[in-house]
Amino acid sequence: MSNSGDHPHVVLLPSAGMGHLIPFLRLAASLVHKHCRVTLITTHPTVSLAESQFISSFLSAFPDQVTEKQFHLLPFDPTSANSDDPFLLRWEAIGRSAYLLAPLLSSISPISAFVSDVTLFSSVFPLTTNLGVPNYILFTSSARMYSLFRSFPTFAASKTRSGSVPFGNNVVEMSLSSIPPPLLNLNNLFAKMFLQNALDAMKSNGILINTFEALEGDMLHALSNGTRDGFPPLYAVGPFLPCEFEKSERNNAPLKWLDNQPEGSVVYVSFGSRTALSREQMKELGTGLVRSRCRFLWIVKDKTVDKEDGESLDKLIGNELMEKIQDQGLVIKDWVDQDEILSHKAVGGFVSHGGWNSMVEAAWHGVRVLVWPQAGDQKINAEAVERSGLGMWVQSWGWADQQMVVVKAEEIGHTIKNMMENDHLRVKAAKFKEEARKAVVVGGTSESTMMGLIQDWKNNN
Ligand code: UDP
Ligand code: UDP
Repeated sequence: MSNSGDHPHVVLLPSAGMGHLIPFLRLAASLVHKHCRVTLITTHPTVSLAESQFISSFLSAFPDQVTEKQFHLLPFDPTSANSDDPFLLRWEAIGRSAYLLAPLLSSISPISAFVSDVTLFSSVFPLTTNLGVPNYILFTSSARMYSLFRSFPTFAASKTRSGSVPFGNNVVEMSLSSIPPPLLNLNNLFAKMFLQNALDAMKSNGILINTFEALEGDMLHALSNGTRDGFPPLYAVGPFLPCEFEKSERNNAPLKWLDNQPEGSVVYVSFGSRTALSREQMKELGTGLVRSRCRFLWIVKDKTVDKEDGESLDKLIGNELMEKIQDQGLVIKDWVDQDEILSHKAVGGFVSHGGWNSMVEAAWHGVRVLVWPQAGDQKINAEAVERSGLGMWVQSWGWADQQMVVVKAEEIGHTIKNMMENDHLRVKAAKFKEEARKAVVVGGTSESTMMGLIQDWKNNN
């Protein structure tokens, strides 16, 4: 591949799961539109059907502009990963197999920028540094979560843990109970990697993040004023926009149903690509939705990985509940086009686990959110959403895996009803639609930041 100065060559390495793949491929599409050449490292095997379909649609959409380099992993190892979560197994295998990338990377030089998923950075950093390639990170969560990442070396070293997260000359007040539980045990693989990635990130050339001024301006300003802690620049280049290639062969039953519902009347309920509620919690949620008296579109997930999600809806939530639901809502157990759903005028609210991609998509469409965090970074994202005015959350609902007490239908119904009747929240959330568009048009904050970065990459050629 030739390397003309006008067309920087960017190599991308995503991590496991749709929550990591989607922002990478949206970034890739945006780079192609801004005349960059892109090499995508595709990791095999993938875990979910959604991932493999998404990668093939992406590659078919850009046959000339994107080069694929296949990276074949060592076998998954539940002992090394200390988990049986297939996405975590795959993430651990990518880190363990990273040395296999050396010949692959040598074969694709020259490289203007190498962008790695934050969770893989330490594994690839020695290789790319040896090759003299500029190293960038894509941070796939909120700026608020990034403040925890950046301060984690200090947090990990301190004996008195509090929710005050210091970085540089700034302090972010974060509730200790919002910090992902695995990060509170420094012997945990996730915590070890989180710490190592943070330490190595200081030596990277920069960090890209899918957020924007109107959504997390306070955090972004605090972070840009706090660079004395040795971290490289943070580039807020979101919102990453959903693309045409994502649209192929999706279940369009939800859209047909939404077409027949009144404007702003429907609450859309989805917990992302890899979160399955317990069966008991699922039934309470279904009953809660009925009790809210709102119309709803509910995406049900029973298994972490889509390929294994074979149980019928009747069996999962029971015939009796299915019958009650019929007049009021639509229940789907399938991958849906979330972008089309959120953009539909009938949708007036979103009940979500708080995955960051979903939060940015809600902002893009100006849809208010009730965040119900289940794991990982989701409580910190919920805090960010609440502070911004995009949505609300109920702190007492707790983490999914520690939830000995299931949240009851009555409380769920009542909270959803409150969210859907909260006009103040509706109006505040709607404003994000305009602000998000302002960020990405020519001259907008995110667009200018991205163009500046591409200019730097041209200078690296
Ligand atoms: N998504 C989708 N259809 C589905 C489920 C998920 O399009 O049926 C997309 C959603 O729009 C988002 C991503 O998958 O872009 C999920 O990422 P997020 O960070 O919200 O949560 P995660 O799945 O990583 O927990
Ligand atoms: N994360 C990180 N460094 C790590 C591992 C995770 O910064 O070594 C951040 C990253 O932003 C990720 C978030 O923590 O998106 C949550 O990770 P988790 O694995 O819990 O969820 P996932 O995004 O894989 O669903």
